[in-house]
Amino acid sequence: MILSLPKLLRTAAWLALIIAFPGAAVQGTENISPLGRAPDWPALERFQGTMTQSEFTSALQNVYCTRGVGEVIQVEENLARFLIDREEQKWFTLRFAPDEKSRKRVGRRWKRAAYLPRARKGRELAGLKIALDPGHIGGKWAQMEERWFQVGDSKPIQEGDLTLRVAKLIAPKLRKLGASVSLVRPKTAPVTKKRPADLTETAKEILLRAGVAQPREDFAGPADPEKEQSIRWQDELLFYRNSEIRERARIVNTETKPDVVLCLHFNAESWEDPRNPTLVDRNHLHLLINGSYLPAELEFDDVRFEMLQRLLSRTHEEEFPLAEKAALALARRTQLPPYEYTTENVAKMGSTGYVFARNLIATRLYRCPVIYFEPYVMNSDEVFWRVQEGDYEGIRSVNGIDRPSIFREYADGVVEGLVDYYREAR
Ligand SMILES: [Zn+2]
Repeated sequence: MILSLPKLLRTAAWLALIIAFPGAAVQGTENISPLGRAPDWPALERFQGTMTQSEFTSALQNVYCTRGVGEVIQVEENLARFLIDREEQKWFTLRFAPDEKSRKRVGRRWKRAAYLPRARKGRELAGLKIALDPGHIGGKWAQMEERWFQVGDSKPIQEGDLTLRVAKLIAPKLRKLGASVSLVRPKTAPVTKKRPADLTETAKEILLRAGVAQPREDFAGPADPEKEQSIRWQDELLFYRNSEIRERARIVNTETKPDVVLCLHFNAESWEDPRNPTLVDRNHLHLLINGSYLPAELEFDDVRFEMLQRLLSRTHEEEFPLAEKAALALARRTQLPPYEYTTENVAKMGSTGYVFARNLIATRLYRCPVIYFEPYVMNSDEVFWRVQEGDYEGIRSVNGIDRPSIFREYADGVVEGLVDYYREAR
């Protein structure tokens, strides 16, 4: 589940950015998002002469900056200029390749399917390194991260526990197909060593910049309408949605170095009171890939740099066709209709109806193709009962309909999507 947009979105645009897009804020004099890292602009030198002007422009217009770039990126005939420092008016210059034939080749850390040797049936994933990222933390952290609800005396639904269960079903299937597999989060505990109380300085700064000069220390629970203006709520948000994901990115980028990351989530619609949640009829599926940065997001130096690094690495060329295959396979398994976004921070990609580009901290920071799965509305009547039934073999009648375990259906859909893609593309 990705966050629905809280009330502050309508009142404080700057804080809204942080909430809707947990990378945003400023620290010190640098224009860096909260807990973000200063950009390493010289690292873009290796992309000199590797892309034509038309390739670059097309990636900007169709994938990464579908709502414009503001004034931070300037494209000329033979070169593009990226703003490094607004005050000093420092710019990075990237020279384009004059044509496709003269493009310089650039090494990448992840393997493109097209460069893998063909594989026999049943070993379609041989030689691939796949990281599974079970969304959220779960366990005793589920209530803090607002990924918890309970209907009456039934078993509470905790997204972080569900996603870990799916990851543990997917991992052995991928290994059998030849992949080496790691879990970015192997249990229902945070990966980051930071805790909410360690992040108070940043939380106070975020609130100050949003115009809350004397914030409350605490809030009265998930239904408190002014919780977002309290230090504890901001501390916790920075912990579970920012520090935690940044530490996962560090593991992915410096330790496991996979060829693809699969972020596993369950979607939900607003359930209001977690102890008396609203159950809905709607159930749907969508997948996210990186892109569709808002001009306001690109104002942050680190975000702009990370977007450009991703664009120039040509990650999208692998990510998008893989996402389409994965979406079709999961749609086949689940029979779910596509989700329709009503917000402006996404762009629909391709023709399946299931794939959208969005700038999430995980899809931006993991330096390889990332597919972000959002099947099932956890608080739909149907999914609620299927989760209550737990994991099982074969078919059972759940709430009057014969169904496989929801966890196995999810896992099978993901695995089939990967097999479909790599069978054709390698
Ligand atoms: Zn989620």
